[in-house]
Amino acid sequence: MTALRDLHDVLLLDLDGTVYAGKDPIPGAVEALSGGTEEQYFVTNNASRAPEDVAEHLRGLGFDTTAEFVVTSSEAGARVLADKLDPGSRVLVVGTDALANEITKVGLEPVRSADDHPVAVVQGHSVDTGWKILAEAVLAIRAGALWVATNIDATLPTERGLVLGNGSMVAAVRNATEIEPIVAGKPAAPIMHDAIERSGARSALVVGDRLDTDIAGANEIDLPSLLVLTGVSTAAELLHAPRHLRPTHIGPDLGVLNKDEMSSSVGSKTGWTVGIENEVLSVQYSGDGVPDAFEGALATLHVAWSGSTFSDVHFEGDRLGDLRSLLGC
Ligand SMILES: [Mg+2]
Repeated sequence: MTALRDLHDVLLLDLDGTVYAGKDPIPGAVEALSGGTEEQYFVTNNASRAPEDVAEHLRGLGFDTTAEFVVTSSEAGARVLADKLDPGSRVLVVGTDALANEITKVGLEPVRSADDHPVAVVQGHSVDTGWKILAEAVLAIRAGALWVATNIDATLPTERGLVLGNGSMVAAVRNATEIEPIVAGKPAAPIMHDAIERSGARSALVVGDRLDTDIAGANEIDLPSLLVLTGVSTAAELLHAPRHLRPTHIGPDLGVLNKDEMSSSVGSKTGWTVGIENEVLSVQYSGDGVPDAFEGALATLHVAWSGSTFSDVHFEGDRLGDLRSLLGC
């Protein structure tokens, strides 16, 4: 057997919903990630914390990492600006001091007022962002400043539930300027390019829990991906997922990294017969015993994503109840 992780020299791991949920590690995640030979990079859209702080948080949960293996959307945003601006250019920062620090690191000058005539605005998540700094951003952008958003996630998970993410604050500025920002974080390409460049990866695997950020980000730059069902996205979203949201591998959790790569790959499976006829997707299991719903889902998705359209799904026999509920049918 070839374990999934053995096919890749680098894992590009999402954080929330993939390796931890708020204050706790995802059950089994620490064990699943230990012992491999590949390098593990943690790629996060959250621009409010410095890489050192993210690494410390991860170590506190039991993960073995350091700041150099953390790639944030604030670093990616700073890189985007450094590529486009002259050294020393002023950048209005809407966000934390950690974000301002990244601007300094790439040779630009962070400022906090439109009166300083910034040539660009960078906007990342901070709990302290309010009307005053958003007004500075709007003034600068309306005066012609380039606008980069570290990420545009509409929501941010907290222990108390979903709250406003950076994308919702970006929406306020967009509403007042009628301008679209350049986006650095997932699913946009800059953060993934950053991670690939820093890791020197030749066969990276993107691992995450969200179709619209992690998996879309992988597909944006043609990298294979693993969706884990420990966070936001569910298997029920997969059957009708458009091409750019389809993962290469699907697993209940990070444990599949240590299993044969076939056990998580979307493809035909022994004992499963799946076909589309007259717009009906039919699924049949002819093996012995209780069918494995996960295996059935991988075989079903393989055909569902083949290009033929279907408007109905038919599960033959009475042994496929688990598969039906897994796929939300
Ligand atoms: Mg996540």
